[in-house]
Amino acid sequence: MRQTYAIIGLGRFGGALLETLVANGQDVLGIDINEEHVNDYRDVATQVVIADAQEDEVLRKLDIASFDHIVIAIGHNMQASILATINAKDLGAKNVIAKAENRTHLRVLTKIGADVVVQPEREMGERVARKLLAPNMLNFIELSDDYSMAEV
Ligand code: ATP
Repeated sequence: MRQTYAIIGLGRFGGALLETLVANGQDVLGIDINEEHVNDYRDVATQVVIADAQEDEVLRKLDIASFDHIVIAIGHNMQASILATINAKDLGAKNVIAKAENRTHLRVLTKIGADVVVQPEREMGERVARKLLAPNMLNFIELSDDYSMAEV
């Protein structure tokens, strides 16, 4: 199913996300404050914009609430990540997925209403450890604290 995505922050994480979604036929808007990062994805994304996502006017003008999914892929600049998340939710965004740098960041993003919070480095570390412990396991999905699903 074709859906619309806005990815805010085109670093390694946001960039990989954008490329994978586009390669799978999705409509993706990429937003970054850094012109060089935007230029890297100009020919890949459906549309790219150079803008500071901390500004609620920026997100309003881009009609951010009309996207099916919004990914806030800003890590280091915690203020920008928090403001972009709050502004997107205030503007009525349906599904906001935010990237956290650390546990404190994760707690804040969850508290201010991010629908999903991911911590890629931590999650990948856990995934690699599981792979080392059980080399025959092809895939592992944690459904809750008590239940997981594994493909072997
Ligand atoms: P990654 O691990 O994904 O490469 P990083 O942790 O090294 O990211 P971050 O500081 O998280 O780097 O920045 C990710 C992207 O977000 C960068 O491309 C950066 O230019 C962009 N970014 C940072 N602040 C803003 C902002 N206010 N508005 C839009 N984009 C921003």
